[in-house]
Amino acid sequence: MIRINEHYQKLQNSYLFAEINQRIQAFQQQHPERELIRLGIGDVTLPLPDACVQAMHKAVDELAESQTFRGYGPEQGYDFLRQAIAEHDFQARGANINADEIFVSDGAKCDTGNIQELFAQDLRLAIPDPVYPVYVDTNVMAGRTGASQAGRYQGLVYLECTAENNYIPELPSEPVDLIYLCFPNNPTGASITRDQLRLWVEYALEQQALILFDAAYEAFIQDEDVAHSIYEIEGAEKVAIEFRSFSKTAGFTGVRCAYTVVPKACTAYTAAGVAVSVRDLWMRRHTTKFNGVSYPVQRAAEAVYSPAGKAQVAELIEYYLKNAAYIRQAFQRMGFACSGGDNSPYIWIEVKQDAWTFFDFLLNNAGVICTPGAGFGRCGEQHIRISAFNNFEKVQQAMQRIEAALLHHSPL
Ligand code: PLP
Repeated sequence: MIRINEHYQKLQNSYLFAEINQRIQAFQQQHPERELIRLGIGDVTLPLPDACVQAMHKAVDELAESQTFRGYGPEQGYDFLRQAIAEHDFQARGANINADEIFVSDGAKCDTGNIQELFAQDLRLAIPDPVYPVYVDTNVMAGRTGASQAGRYQGLVYLECTAENNYIPELPSEPVDLIYLCFPNNPTGASITRDQLRLWVEYALEQQALILFDAAYEAFIQDEDVAHSIYEIEGAEKVAIEFRSFSKTAGFTGVRCAYTVVPKACTAYTAAGVAVSVRDLWMRRHTTKFNGVSYPVQRAAEAVYSPAGKAQVAELIEYYLKNAAYIRQAFQRMGFACSGGDNSPYIWIEVKQDAWTFFDFLLNNAGVICTPGAGFGRCGEQHIRISAFNNFEKVQQAMQRIEAALLHHSPL
């Protein structure tokens, strides 16, 4: 008899986007004439930078000729891309990361989901709340938690991110071994300063713990004191793995390219206390289970670092950040406390009432779609997430509609 991995039975279905779609459909059936503005989903809307498109075309042409054709590439990524990443994303910021510590992949979702395979089953795990759900669910699947009770899995240490701590988690009050951090954050939009991040690195060094640092939204950072990479902090190379993605940086959500940094100095231990190189473990996993990102996509990613690519990426980011600032200012004018939107494409809004009630209010009275914060964890209740990925005119229109709706109707 074929049996299943019963840990999957513990997973709480994520009804979030299914439920959102159901409510939208019901609304549209009743009001087919109403045009909806979607500020819910975290997907980019602007086309690829031209430098990336040109590089991809050229790479495809190379594949069309027998002299320049390429088959399988190195699983960890081509050297041309790994070198460009190490130089521009790290060495240029004073972080001593080399090309052989970079692993190119088809997405930060896969990498942040797969990395837990390297570590012991009985780890003490710290995960923020609210959170990008992949970190929690992949550990549930792997059997590192108990059952879910009242929306929380037994055995996890939840790092609560609330208005009181400006959505930056505090160090755990009990010892933990593996810590997930994401900055700039999805969904709260919060970003972390170098001084705040240093506390986490010092904690990990002291506890022989490991930090999994998801910096998928790094490209949106504007403030000087916000860390772009955890490796800007001294000692982090011993205790941190960093995840980056071209998805939001350069509009690659459909193209698929990302990378993970596992420094040579990064160490984990056997039960007997023997130090093991995490990079070697990840190399073994990656080369065993992954066959590399396609050549044209890696050439497109390389083009992000060309002078033209850098300028075009900066334009994309500036466009979304202008939307984000507009949204944040509009909600603040309407009297709501907001986080994010400055170093991040997400604005996290405290609505001081049930998140789904507020979602329905915006849908019914303004024709605007947001994401209810409750879908990201218990601390997301009473919050909504608004995404800046849309065109500016639509964003303006959405804010006007919301202001008018709040003026004429009570959201309660
Ligand atoms: N990490 C965070 C925090 C995200 O929000 C996302 C996508 O929304 C990802 C990772 C996944 O990125 P990718 O498109 O590279 O898989």
